[in-house]
Amino acid sequence: MDSVNLMMEKFYQAMCESIDGYVFVCSLSDGGYEVILPQDFVEEFGISPEYRTRYFESWLECIHEEDREKYKSGLQSMFDNKTRMFSLQYRAKNRNDKWIWLESRTHLSYDDAGNPLILAGVIYNLGRQNHLDHVTGLLNKYAFREVINQKIKDHIPFGVLLLNIDDFHHINELYDQTFGDSVLRTIGTYIQSRLDSNAAIYRMDGDEYGILIMNPQKEEAEQLYNRISNHYKTQKELQGHLYYCTFSAIYHEYDDEQDYNDIVKALKVGMNIVKQQGKGRYLLFRSEFLKFKERELELIEMLRHSIENDFEGFELQFQPQVYADSKDLKGAEALLRWECEKYGKISPVEFIPLLEKSDMIQTVGKWVFRQAVNMCKAWVCIYPQFSMSINVSYLQLFDPHFVEFMRDCVAEAGISYQNIIVEITESKFISDKEILKQVFDSVREMGMKVAMDDFGTGYSSLGILKEAPADIVKIDKIFVQNIKENSFDSSFIRVVVELCHKVGIKVCLEGVEEDEEMDVVSDMDLDFIQGFLYGKPEQAENFYHMYLSNG
Ligand code: C2E
Ligand code: CA
Ligand code: CA
Repeated sequence: MDSVNLMMEKFYQAMCESIDGYVFVCSLSDGGYEVILPQDFVEEFGISPEYRTRYFESWLECIHEEDREKYKSGLQSMFDNKTRMFSLQYRAKNRNDKWIWLESRTHLSYDDAGNPLILAGVIYNLGRQNHLDHVTGLLNKYAFREVINQKIKDHIPFGVLLLNIDDFHHINELYDQTFGDSVLRTIGTYIQSRLDSNAAIYRMDGDEYGILIMNPQKEEAEQLYNRISNHYKTQKELQGHLYYCTFSAIYHEYDDEQDYNDIVKALKVGMNIVKQQGKGRYLLFRSEFLKFKERELELIEMLRHSIENDFEGFELQFQPQVYADSKDLKGAEALLRWECEKYGKISPVEFIPLLEKSDMIQTVGKWVFRQAVNMCKAWVCIYPQFSMSINVSYLQLFDPHFVEFMRDCVAEAGISYQNIIVEITESKFISDKEILKQVFDSVREMGMKVAMDDFGTGYSSLGILKEAPADIVKIDKIFVQNIKENSFDSSFIRVVVELCHKVGIKVCLEGVEEDEEMDVVSDMDLDFIQGFLYGKPEQAENFYHMYLSNG
């Protein structure tokens, strides 16, 4: 061995010992090659001792069928002069026929005449560090963390697409967890088969997959998301069962300032926002999301503070509900208001979900109920047929003592149960039909009425009425917004009224603001109207003066 070769040999040994991976070098010559591999790699994968000039042929045999094409095309693209570096995560069978996840990074260099000279790189054994997810066979979140940290260290640009299966618990509940696991595995395999060689998939917690995209192109992640979600748009069959799923996705591109925890935080916050915006969609992460999250946490703390200080800042306002034909007052809906020092008035559309998220809705909901019942007591004395509609969050229904609480509240006030209407939003019911039905039944047994709120905005609107019949259906205000131009909206209202009346359910239309809108619905036989045309939400005292005092 001449001194240069000796030095190379020593250098190679030093590399093998200092790198936590298998270093390989392959020198290329006209039509042939010669490979040097570390001994532990040769042993682990049972590579034949004569491998030096036949390595690639036998190595391809070890690679998992689903990964083989990607491996071949990655190598080929280097020889086609498209790229000098190629990295890929793939599975290979070891000596004991076990699949091992590997990540290989390969580099091709050329001689002065431009001919391929040396192919060299490192193969990391990811499986070695317990990085496999046993349900899906994919790499797990620990592997994800390691790879991300490595990319950050190497300054390789990358993006992460976090994919979450919407309402996955429905699949688990409808069938069982074993079937749910099969769905997770099938989806993982499908996604993996659709990835280009610059991307890799990881199973994260629960029903979540992380897709790492190296050197991402513009819109690459969104296109990938569209490919996946289009595929799952139609029902799929697995083990004789049908299932269907949509995905929520957030995509975040790494910037130099961040570490692994920042990336995970961004993805989590982003995913929350996607879910809040109605699931089944793709969002590109923006730094405002973090500010939004901070505001949310701040508001939650301020809400807690208000509650602890005797509900300081909370108030109920009352909006009139009128009979559709005579326009006489029927009653009011109690609407919660909250203001804080720092931001002033906050819309219930913002703070109610925060109360729900933080479990404070139970406490606040009871406060609302008691206040509204007491107000009703005062107004029933003046106007005996007055009805008070009170919003109850679906989460309150899970409190086993809530029905009893309502009963006691009304009894203590000494008013008739008939004067109280409990409004519940329909869009959240889907998976809790049993509880809903029980609560409906006991509320109605007492003599209170149940109104299904925001009707038409959820799904299975009509179906739910069969399962858990309400006394009143409140058609959501979105059906009024374009009623003058949109014939679907007016037909929808007409059909709902007809259907409900057939089974003895009354219908209230929300959101009527103008005379012209009232004209369109005037012949639809609606029972009640609630809208700015007949009055906005008012403080109790104003409400009394405007609608109840004769003076
Ligand atoms: P909701 O139960 O559908 O209440 C009706 C909402 O429609 C109220 O908004 C009301 O001000 C608004 N509205 C009524 N008529 C019109 C109209 O003609 N035009 C327009 N543009 N809007 C109209 P608000 O007070 O902002 O409440 C929003 C939502 O917050 C409520 O929707 C309800 O889901 C929730 N909410 C309010 N108070 C409570 C409460 O005490 N408990 C619970 N759980 N939720 C509440
Ligand atoms: Ca309502
Ligand atoms: Ca409503």
